[in-house]
Amino acid sequence: MAKEDLECSFCGRKKPETNLLIAGLDAHICDRCIEQAHGIVIEESKQTDNSDLSAELVLRKPKKIKGFLDEYIIGQEATKKVMSVAVYNHYKRLLQPPSDDDIEIQKSNIIMVGQTGTGKTLMAKTIAKMLNVPLAIVDATVLTEAGYVGEDVESILTRLLQAADYNLEKAEKGIVFIDEIDKIARKSDNPSITRDVSGEGVQQALLKLLEGTVVNVPPKGGRKHPDQKFIEVNTENILFIAGGAFDGIDRVISKRLNMQAVGYSASMSDNVVDQNHLLQYIIPKDLKDFGLIPEIIGRLPVLTYMDPLDAKTLRAILTEPKNAIIKQYKKLFEMDEIEFTIEDGALDFIVGKAIEYKLGARGLRSLCEEILTDAMFELPGGKEKALNVTQEYAEEKLTKTTIKKLKAVS
Ligand code: ADP
Repeated sequence: MAKEDLECSFCGRKKPETNLLIAGLDAHICDRCIEQAHGIVIEESKQTDNSDLSAELVLRKPKKIKGFLDEYIIGQEATKKVMSVAVYNHYKRLLQPPSDDDIEIQKSNIIMVGQTGTGKTLMAKTIAKMLNVPLAIVDATVLTEAGYVGEDVESILTRLLQAADYNLEKAEKGIVFIDEIDKIARKSDNPSITRDVSGEGVQQALLKLLEGTVVNVPPKGGRKHPDQKFIEVNTENILFIAGGAFDGIDRVISKRLNMQAVGYSASMSDNVVDQNHLLQYIIPKDLKDFGLIPEIIGRLPVLTYMDPLDAKTLRAILTEPKNAIIKQYKKLFEMDEIEFTIEDGALDFIVGKAIEYKLGARGLRSLCEEILTDAMFELPGGKEKALNVTQEYAEEKLTKTTIKKLKAVS
């Protein structure tokens, strides 16, 4: 058969009418039919995605959940354990078949207290990754009461819908991480202060979401698109995880512990209080004294804390997690067939600088970037096929000015 006589076995177009005609065993297909078929495949897979979400949600036992967290998060044992149980219970509640007893398992929304950079967001991200549910990360500081400049609390659900690719069923089983929840604490104990736009009002607005309610959500976000149709989102099965640094809460805890020691439970003095890690003694009342309203605290019943990161933890963060920073650089260099190694001295030096300049875990990444940028620029395509970073090399690359720069942005 002459070439121009060949035709698509699906639509019958002759070869000259197509951009591309691909031959099979005894049939041909043109570019247009491929595109159409691809569209059908995508549509089909979306439908099967929607069909049985609960079957898709693989619920692991708490020990397995913790095992997964261990792969990505160093230390933070207490929180990992508490989280594993809370997440397990939350999704167990969600997957339970309807029963006729009156026992209703309540939501186990979580609140994590700990300095910035200790892995709160990472914890929420890892849980969402494990469960394969959508995650929205929102910053409480941008939230305001409806009618004020800033974002309404419903915008949280807009984000979740977006994260779920507008699949409502998926969004309604997703996770929302509300960062900096401490920033919406009431500024003063005196409730009569003039209107507190970003404080107590927002807490009140959040209450309903946390508890479980049906909210009209503008799918494209609030105010810029006034004509859009609202989507009704039920927050009943959404897991809310709140996080905050709660700067100064250690003083609240310390004060309470001291008062207890002189009061009834003088036996407190028997249990030696670790003054450097006061967060481990945190109780809901401390959050109230800090300025969260009792109703919010009640709807975040699982309270846990993050340990500050010491040198040993920072060192482990560099090399141990599944996608540790050093492993990432190794992979990047490998793509250029360059063998990348880094000596212990250099790793200790990086950790030392992160601590000295209070850069935290986030700073580790920026420090590595500063040290390795020259090599990542020079080596690809060159003759050198190995890079061994020694302490001297790291020191040479990390001048005082670069550290200053890092400190300014951290
Ligand atoms: P937070 O939300 O508490 O401010 P993040 O979760 O954003 O902190 O942490 C910042 C970065 O630091 C993370 O991306 C992660 O790489 C690293 N990190 C912090 N804590 C840990 C940890 N315990 N284990 C592994 N990596 C961590």
